[in-house]
Amino acid sequence: MKQTGPGTGNTPADPNVKKYFSTRPSRADNFTESVIREMTRLALKHNAINLAQGFPDFPCPPELKAAACNAVNDDINQYAITWGAKDLRDALAERVGKFNGMRFDPETEITVTCGSTEAMMASMLAVIQPGDEVIVPEPFYENYGPDAQISGAVPRFVPLKDDFSIDEEKWKEAFSKRTRAVILNTPNNPTGKVFTRKELSFIADLCIDHDAVAITDEIYEHIVYDGHRHLSLASLDGMRDRTITIGSFSKTYSVTGWRVGYALADEGLTGRIRKIHDFLTVGAPAPLQRACVAALMLPESYYVGLAQDYDRRRRILFDGLRNAGFSCQLPEGAYYIFTDITGFGMTDTEFARFLIGKIGVAAVPGSSFYHEGGETKLRFTFSKKDGTLEEACRRLEKLEEIITPA
Ligand code: GLN
Repeated sequence: MKQTGPGTGNTPADPNVKKYFSTRPSRADNFTESVIREMTRLALKHNAINLAQGFPDFPCPPELKAAACNAVNDDINQYAITWGAKDLRDALAERVGKFNGMRFDPETEITVTCGSTEAMMASMLAVIQPGDEVIVPEPFYENYGPDAQISGAVPRFVPLKDDFSIDEEKWKEAFSKRTRAVILNTPNNPTGKVFTRKELSFIADLCIDHDAVAITDEIYEHIVYDGHRHLSLASLDGMRDRTITIGSFSKTYSVTGWRVGYALADEGLTGRIRKIHDFLTVGAPAPLQRACVAALMLPESYYVGLAQDYDRRRRILFDGLRNAGFSCQLPEGAYYIFTDITGFGMTDTEFARFLIGKIGVAAVPGSSFYHEGGETKLRFTFSKKDGTLEEACRRLEKLEEIITPA
């Protein structure tokens, strides 16, 4: 007979005890669940086209699929070295040397993580002492808010200008003796901004003057348009040893579910990141790390094709949104269009729910990218097949019959 009672480990749940534990304060109370992922769930529920969460609905390159299957069949199924399989770190060092113009020692300066999400969290935990201030340009990718909360950082949100460029005066005001780090995402989610050499040099000077670390999220580095060039902040003079450069395989190779990313930083910072990473996750999936080596062997034409394909998708969605009455500009990089919805007479959340329920298209409410405000914005992703985007645009045409933008 099954034993229950104290000491048996089978004590029936006392609802009062349960309530007591779930109502005790927790650091998780300081933030909500991800709105981006909530929108995905709503899209599924209402059978809406998901232009909310940024992931492709098309397959990854066949070379990656074959490499992943081979890795499993070749018995690469146990833990890799906690900070990343050696073959992957070696291949990454070579790729980063070629593309980003930076040298990192694969033995001491590269950490493979569970996506760039973990790389960012581990980096912040490695750098921040509770109470340290962190500069976050706003709007920002929603994870940075909870990342700051979890690491104990005090975020200082600095608004970008209307054209999403850096407002130098506001940046100068935001830095203080308590500034420990800057979080920069270029190409930027949600705005599509690709920060220029001049803007990055300005940020670099501030970091150097205030002895701050820069943590750069460069996950969209290969997705840029119209001759814009991605530049890594760490490649600027004086920044190599005070920057953590975060990258990932997710967006470049259309494998967001693989959860393989990385952090590049000098030996001192890497030592700390590796310790946090080790105890958070032990390591990223071993067979997929092996498959990511194959990704890094793809020819340069792959990257050209990737940017061209996204350029085409960008134009399909942009035209569709403009036809439907949205006010927006073509993004310089990444795969989102950040629209202004002032004319539609609804808040971002009302409008997002309306679009899912009545039009059959999901987007992300702008307020998810601001610590306050953003209710006049909505973000759409174009990381989808042409046909998916075309169908979404057809559905959005119906908006005009239902509401007339002011
Ligand atoms: N980066 C993607 C986005 O902004 C996916 C976010 C996520 O769910 N991890 O939509």
